[in-house]
Amino acid sequence: MDFNSLIRTIPDYPKAGIQFRDITTLLKDGPGFHAAIEALVQRYRGQTISKIVGIESRGFMFAAPLAYALKLGFVPIRKKGKLPGNTIGHDYELEYGTDRIEIHHGAIEAGEHILIVDDLLATGGTAQAAATLVQKMGGKVVECAFLVDLPDIGGRQRLENEGLPVFALCEFEGD
Ligand code: AMP
Repeated sequence: MDFNSLIRTIPDYPKAGIQFRDITTLLKDGPGFHAAIEALVQRYRGQTISKIVGIESRGFMFAAPLAYALKLGFVPIRKKGKLPGNTIGHDYELEYGTDRIEIHHGAIEAGEHILIVDDLLATGGTAQAAATLVQKMGGKVVECAFLVDLPDIGGRQRLENEGLPVFALCEFEGD
């Protein structure tokens, strides 16, 4: 399946100079969406994985069906203030300022093997913050999985330098 052709590029969104890789065009294509989940299922079936963590919000759209197909639990990581129970958070640097992501206290048990899923890897800042949260809870990150990698931005390198394996279904050149 040619996933690149199913992902639409919107120039200058959300601001000038950004090439936004829009996965909603893949999501609305039944065979394309199915093939994307199936490719992830093929990669992770049979691996030692305790739970799948999805990153708000587009990560949920791939993490949840993958967890369902593998009969694994799904755990959301959300932006600050969205989760109703007690949370553990991690602040991380953005290009301008900082952001905070949170996970429910007790969502991951020490020693569990965790697969992190998001739609797209750019700088790797979000995925690295998610991995830090998982590790704070005693979880071991098996891999970080994405639909799209933008290798020229360097996120894969950054995550691999931290000892976090990376997998992506497709890549786009440039930023
Ligand atoms: P980063 O933390 O820089 O790796 O950014 C990853 C997060 O930002 C993902 O959750 C993506 O949904 C979003 N993102 C960053 N850059 C883009 C882009 N060019 N197109 C679409 N989404 C993006």
